[in-house]
Amino acid sequence: MIFEVLSIFPGLFASFLAESLLAKAQAKGLLTVNLIDIRDFTSDPHRTVDDRPYGGGPGMVLKPEPVTLALESLLMPGEEPPRVIYLTPSGTLFNQKMARELSELPRLALVCGRYEGLDQRFIDLFVDQEISIGDYVVNGGEVPAMVVIEAVARLLPGFLGQNESLVEESHSHGLLEHPHYTRPPVFRGRAVPKILLSGHHAQIAAYRLAEALAKTKDSRPDLWSRPELLEETVAALSRPGAALAGKKGP
Ligand code: SAM
Repeated sequence: MIFEVLSIFPGLFASFLAESLLAKAQAKGLLTVNLIDIRDFTSDPHRTVDDRPYGGGPGMVLKPEPVTLALESLLMPGEEPPRVIYLTPSGTLFNQKMARELSELPRLALVCGRYEGLDQRFIDLFVDQEISIGDYVVNGGEVPAMVVIEAVARLLPGFLGQNESLVEESHSHGLLEHPHYTRPPVFRGRAVPKILLSGHHAQIAAYRLAEALAKTKDSRPDLWSRPELLEETVAALSRPGAALAGKKGP
């Protein structure tokens, strides 16, 4: 999969891409991230990418010409154009379902805004999808683009060591994940729940599901009140190794 990142601060991605699983995935050829410096597509000596907003108001706006030329530099005749995504707080809220859908595409172009944002005409002409990473505002689209890259990349086959970790994760089946414990068995007077040491797989699965339900109810009433929750809970109980696995229905 190819990510094309258009930014005026491409240097921000250096250590993000050079460490840990993302670095390994690039070495394995699972993904490529091309960083495109929008300033390389300016034509004045100051490499100007922004200007004052028409109609007045504070701040600056990213000019449409350099970002258009940057995007056009990626379009090769006869080649499928990338899905063009603009990271913006006024976009659709990013979630696991969107990450999964994006992970099935061959190529994404992630356009990072700065200052007050991007000239609307670029958005109208070229952007396929506007994505927000949450109901808050950060300084630029670079951190949101990293969030999208990481969420999408870890869904690519071969990115994670064990594919099961994807199945059980928060948001993969509508529930938040159960808590995790490792050694030592007692830490600062707090013992690991006994059931996890029992070796009884079905009971452990039922315990984890109960914990996932309780966590979802407490932390995310919006997820808890969805009508699909019951169906998803039964599906979770029926997965291999879970409490109802292999049992016949009534
Ligand atoms: N004036 C804009 C507004 O009120 O919607 C905010 C601009 S913000 C300071 C600069 C850039 O950061 C945006 O153009 C966008 O690319 C990025 N950005 C900020 N918050 C974001 C979020 N929650 N999700 C995605 N991108 C965001």
